[in-house]
Amino acid sequence: MLSSAPKLCVDDVSMTFKTSAGVFHALAPVTLSIPQGRFVSLIGPSGCGKSTIFNIIAGLLEPTGGRVMIDGADATGTIGRVGYMLQKDLLLPWRTVLDNTVLGMEIQGVPLREARARSLPLLQRYGLAGFEYLYPNALSGGMRQRAALLRTLLFDTDLILLDEPFGALDAQTKLQMQEWLMQLWSDFGKTVLFVTHDVEEAIYLSDEVHVMGTRPGRIIATIPIPLPRPRLRMSSLTAEFVAIKQRCLAMLTVEGAAQETMNQAA
Ligand code: ADP
Ligand code: MG
Repeated sequence: MLSSAPKLCVDDVSMTFKTSAGVFHALAPVTLSIPQGRFVSLIGPSGCGKSTIFNIIAGLLEPTGGRVMIDGADATGTIGRVGYMLQKDLLLPWRTVLDNTVLGMEIQGVPLREARARSLPLLQRYGLAGFEYLYPNALSGGMRQRAALLRTLLFDTDLILLDEPFGALDAQTKLQMQEWLMQLWSDFGKTVLFVTHDVEEAIYLSDEVHVMGTRPGRIIATIPIPLPRPRLRMSSLTAEFVAIKQRCLAMLTVEGAAQETMNQAA
């Protein structure tokens, strides 16, 4: 019974913040159901509540309403159930790349020597050979993100949350990182929930894209991405890809226009 449950269920989750300016309704009830092994993206305008949903799933924030279910069990407000890469890479500057990537394992109680022995071959296999003993400030933006992502994957959970991991990278590096992430996803078989504001990136990577609207944050469309895998870079030029992109952009634009009308009325 439990094995047939989705990996993750965000069940009618809402969030209200109390601020000095009053009550702020950040999330209307949001419901998401994500099967094991899928790659699912959330896209939406800045401030629509993407990071808030992630903080709630990670158990860092208690929702005002609703529940988070992982493998069919209530995980609301429980930390340690997901690997979470925050919008900032948060590598520790005083630790080498290798010792940054073992952090999650250390927290889970794996002895340091064993954690290093597990991590080292992965660093070498996934593009960080020669960087193992350098400190983060000696690395380029792309290499830092690789280290932060590997650290998240090495945290021994099968659900991971990635909040705009490539948002600050230049266009060329970003494309390389997308290929790299696809390789890791297929090798590790994890369930990934991914936040981006780049529509093309969301489509290229995902099995399903949820488009969010703002004020309060909510899901306004769920768009399946039936493009075959492995995906080729050129697939973003196909009629099928372009049609999906148009649909996503239309949802975001409709939402933007509606918001503008509301602002004018206010
Ligand atoms: P996104 O990640 O989609 O850009 P966030 O989830 O960071 O959006 O924020 C959603 C909204 O909730 C924003 O308007 C933000 O200012 C507000 N918000 C987030 N955290 C807090 C908080 N702790 N207190 C008050 N408001 C918050
Ligand atoms: Mg955010």
